[in-house]
Amino acid sequence: MPRPIQATIDTEALRQNLARMRNAAPDARVWGVVKANAYGHGIERVFDGLRGVDGFALLDLDEAQRVRSLGWRGPVLLLEGVFEARDLELCSRLGLWHTIHCDEQIDMLAAHKTQEPHRVFLKMNSGMNRLGFTPPRYRAAWTRLNALPQVDEISLMTHFSDADGARGIAHQLEAFDAVTHDLPGERSVANSAASLRMGAEPAVRGDWIRPGIAVYGSAPDYPDHDIAHWGLQPTMTLATRVIGVQQLDVGHTVGYGSSFVADQPLRIGIVACGYADGYPRHCTTGTPVLVDGVRTRIVGRVSMDMITVDLTPVPQAGMGSAVTMWGRAGNGQILSIDEVARSAGTVGYELMCALAQRVPVVVD
Ligand SMILES: *Cc1c(COP(=O)(O)O)cnc(C)c1O
Repeated sequence: MPRPIQATIDTEALRQNLARMRNAAPDARVWGVVKANAYGHGIERVFDGLRGVDGFALLDLDEAQRVRSLGWRGPVLLLEGVFEARDLELCSRLGLWHTIHCDEQIDMLAAHKTQEPHRVFLKMNSGMNRLGFTPPRYRAAWTRLNALPQVDEISLMTHFSDADGARGIAHQLEAFDAVTHDLPGERSVANSAASLRMGAEPAVRGDWIRPGIAVYGSAPDYPDHDIAHWGLQPTMTLATRVIGVQQLDVGHTVGYGSSFVADQPLRIGIVACGYADGYPRHCTTGTPVLVDGVRTRIVGRVSMDMITVDLTPVPQAGMGSAVTMWGRAGNGQILSIDEVARSAGTVGYELMCALAQRVPVVVD
């Protein structure tokens, strides 16, 4: 028997989350963001659940090829555009739409020979200061692109730094609108957080929203709001089993560094999951976990292959009991990846992307 750990991708949950995002941004089209191998879920594994999107947005040409190999003939957008001139050949061949965020990419396109003009998304740096043309330089880039025979339609895009937080998006949206209000073309500005929080506003939802994390059942603005608040379902469950049981007396310690000391007699379960499976080592005593669908806590340090959990709330649990590290338990109980991420001082994004290669994944 293989080691009992397994991740499950929930196709129905992906469908429901996608429907939820459509509902948050009525009439906008939806880019299903599948970069980072669909946030660690696997592009091939989420494809069925997400085939209702209007397009797939991603970063790697390799990922774009995989989406085309799955038979997807609709729009595919490279969110960072091309990295070198010959990438444009693949764009022509596979009909990829691509972001233009710098002059060098316009130079490459101007030198590219193609029968079919390309659909491009011109990116503004409206304040995040990663990729894009600053507002004073944006219109010159648009004018240059617009004059190229290699270019078909030009869409307008920007990306928010604080859609999930207190600073918000107003300052960036203002900068974007001030420069683009009289330019033709479709607009795309909203990620998951902006779509959920402000997608009702036409200027925010634009023509295309670009949700990633919400589609994968994690709340972009946790702990302000959780997935229950937003009506999202977990799409990845990391499940394993109890492979050992120990009875601790007062004063007994658990695991490396003896970081946990029992102050009362305690039954603990040894669970087949560790940081080599992608479970964060920063999760320490108190991190929530489900045993037989009942909420309990980790005790002691996460080691490479094992985690120790308190069995007090589940007296009937023992060898072979089902353990849910995050996601949905057999009895329907949910432990959101956001809660576990918070215990590790990080976000759901990082945990799902870090699911280790050695964990077998099934699609439900
Ligand atoms: C990753 C990404 C998104 C999706 O962001 P979420 O917070 O996961 O919704 C949208 N737009 C761009 C440009 C991105 O890189």
